[in-house]
Parts: sequence; C-alpha cells; structure tokens
Amino acid sequence: MPNAAISIQQVAKHFGDFQALKTVSLEIQEGEFFTLLGPSGCGKTTLLKLLGGFEQTSAGRIFLFDQEIEQLPANQRPINTVFQQYALFPHMSIHENVQFGMKMQGIKKKIREQRATEMLELVQLGRFAQRKPTELSGGQQQRVALARALAPKPKVLLLDEPLSALDLKLRQSMRIELKRIQQETGITFVFVTHDQEEALTMSDRIAVMSAGELQQVGSPRTIYEEPANRFVANFIGETNLLQVQTDAVDTQRQVARVHLLAANKATACAPASPFYIDCPTIDALSPGQPAWLSIRPERLSLMAESPHSDGLAGTISQVIYMGTDTQYVVQLDIGHELSARIQNMASQTQPLQSGQRVQVSLDEQAVRLLVA
Ligand code: ATP
Repeated sequence: MPNAAISIQQVAKHFGDFQALKTVSLEIQEGEFFTLLGPSGCGKTTLLKLLGGFEQTSAGRIFLFDQEIEQLPANQRPINTVFQQYALFPHMSIHENVQFGMKMQGIKKKIREQRATEMLELVQLGRFAQRKPTELSGGQQQRVALARALAPKPKVLLLDEPLSALDLKLRQSMRIELKRIQQETGITFVFVTHDQEEALTMSDRIAVMSAGELQQVGSPRTIYEEPANRFVANFIGETNLLQVQTDAVDTQRQVARVHLLAANKATACAPASPFYIDCPTIDALSPGQPAWLSIRPERLSLMAESPHSDGLAGTISQVIYMGTDTQYVVQLDIGHELSARIQNMASQTQPLQSGQRVQVSLDEQAVRLLVA
C-alpha cells in the first residue's frame, strides 16, 4: 500500500449555524490525481481550503505524510494552490512571475532562475519567458500560474476549478496538459471541479460530494459503472432510473430478481405479467424492498417491435442526432420514459423513426441496482 499523502479524519466545518462539511474521512495517496467533484455549494472548496490552511477545521484532524497540520499556518505547509483567478503580476515578465513564490521562500536567485526556466519548459512556455502576462492567451496565463505553483516543489498541489475561466477547446487541451504535468512531476494533485467530464478524464480517483458529505470515492470507471446511489448515478453522466420491487435475492449467486413497477399505476402493466430482470445485487438488500435500476443510455438496445421480440415495449417520442450517436427517447407502455444512445454506424440501413413502436432490451450485466 503506498503512503497516504493526505489523511482527513472525521473533519467537519461549520460557518456559524451552517454545517458546510459533515464528518468527512478520506485518504489521498502520494502521486495521485485526486478530484473533489460535486455541484455548487457541496463543500468541495471548503475542504480544499482546510487542506491549504485558508480555513480552520471545526472538528477532526488532517495529516500530511503523518504530520498533523491543522495548527500549521498556510505558508508553512508544503502545499501550493492554483486558483481559477490566477492573478499574475502584470508588470513582471513570465519568468519573474514564476520565480515569485520561490523568492518569498528565500530561495537563492541562481536556483530560482534555473527552476523557473525548467518549469516554463514543463508547461511548454519556455520561449515566452520574457513576455508580460498580457501578451499571452488565457490558457497560456493559466499555465504560467501552474508553473509558478509547481516551482517551489510542493508535496501537494491544490487546484480550485483552474480551467473554468477557459473556453471549451482550451479546457479540453488543458486537461491533457494537466494530466501530463502531474504524471511527469509525480506531485499529488487535489483538483476541485463541478464538471464531471473533467473529473472523469483526468483523475486517478474521484470523491463525489453532495451537501457537505462524501457520496462515493473511487476510480472514474467505478464511479461511472458502479455508482453507489442515485445521486452519483445521476450526477456522473446520464442515466435512466426505474423504480423496482425486489422479489427474490439469491445471496449465493449475488443476483436479485426484481419486478419493474409501472410509472403510473392507472396504466400499469398487467399485474399478471410484470417485467422481471435478474441483476447483480448488492449487500443489505432484502426481498420486498423498493429499489431503483440505473441503466446507462448507451447500454440499452432498441429493436423494431415484432411478435417474437421480447423486452419492454414502447414508442419512440424523440430522435436526436448527435454525430457519433443518436439519442432516442422512448415512452414505455408501462409509463416510464427511457433514453437510449445508439452508435451511428455507416452500415446502418434503416434508422429508427419518431413514432415507431420498439422493444427495448436491457443488458442485465450493465444494470445497477440501487437502494438509496
Ligand atoms: P462552488 O462550486 O460553487 O464553489 P463548493 O462546493 O466549492 O461550491 P463551498 O464554497 O465549499 O462550495 O461552500 C459550501 C457551503 O458553505 C456553501 O453553502 C457556502 O455558501 C457555504 N460557505 C462557504 N464559505 C462560507 C463562509 N465563509 N461563511 C459562510 N458560509 C460559507
């Protein structure tokens, strides 16, 4: 097991009566690209500020490589921060801007000049060293801010939505850049974002937060394919959530047989012919318990209705062409609406049409059963 760079133990934070963080415990490993992801106001910046020393914890303890740090002022922590507003000094050259933090730390001129040159090479701005910040694009300025924060060789770099001021194209190329820089330097990155795509593409692990609490911590693949609850399933990517009743649980095979409930009881599927599905189960699920199926749109398949096909019957209500794939909205006869994404193939002869009757089949292994 690698060393934990950061260990957050039962940390809470109150602002007056308001509890911004509710007993959060978390370990971040050395060299990880770790992301705090959640909607606005969920407490991710507050947690980052506690790590950086810009706020004090109300309860709990924080360790950095086994050293307890809550009492350590921000400037004595081997941690640096890159903010969304990068605030470069306009009258200084890029090279001088990168040296600034090291100068404050009393690092000798020769060493800091050499390191500033190295850092500008790392962020691929070596040839712009003598320019002023206003002579660079927004993305280039953000890379200078990154070089400045990396130059004093912090053990941990905190990044608070550093890409959100950039336009989409620039943001996408900066994601790749950031990941490369993190891998080359081996520095532990703690990155804050509300953008799930950003989190999925860059992170080794993600902590999904909501209302001051951790909802799930795991690799991008785990978070996407095995969401712990409905909040995570909904927040990461797109999903279909269907309420089901658990009819039987086979604990040995780890399979649950569930029965799909009609969305509208008045138009319910005939109780004599409920739709059953076997799906991988989870611990602590008992027969009779209500639960939800989470099904990703790309894991559904559609077939034109025929007397021999089985699955859930419905009618296509919308067809949205999206380039690489097409999104179909299907109104099921049992009242639910499903979204399916089907890859567009050059060989596809007859695309499905709005108003067409279809049969939806679920890939049972791709269905996730959720109880909360
Ligand atoms: P965003 O993505 O919008 O920055 P966030 O997840 O980073 O959101 P935080 O900035 O951590 O959220 O704020 C969490 C909650 O704590 C919010 O409801 C916010 O209003 C509140 N909060 C943050 N700082 C303070 C403060 N200094 N005083 C009072 N309340 C605060």
